[in-house]
Amino acid sequence: MGFSDVLTRDHECPACHHRDTYSVQFKFGDCRGEVFEIGDSITWQGLREGEPGHRLVVTGGIGSACSACNGPYDLERVGNDWFEVYLENDVITLVTWDNGRFDLRRDGDFVVLDDYPPDRRPTDQG
Ligand SMILES: [Zn+2]
Repeated sequence: MGFSDVLTRDHECPACHHRDTYSVQFKFGDCRGEVFEIGDSITWQGLREGEPGHRLVVTGGIGSACSACNGPYDLERVGNDWFEVYLENDVITLVTWDNGRFDLRRDGDFVVLDDYPPDRRPTDQG
């Protein structure tokens, strides 16, 4: 099945504050290998993953651990290469490392949300 990528430019590690760009692969919406940036809208044609029609969702993404500290979280067993990808009205609003709060660590997992978690507001992003 297909996937999309989102680039996180100047993304700050919450542990060591190192800034870098990560490419995060996710499966939600039209998945034809397109490369998005935060603020871009996904579409729902063709190779579809997930489910349209939700105001706010978080889906899992695969990227890499912080290039400076291999963090940010102490996730020995599962590693730090998973991300949370938030989409509000099909716009990618926030991409951040998955701290294990949601069960997103299989391909195509997503959770429908009423609101962002308190520590995951889009404005928190560096
Ligand atoms: Zn770091």
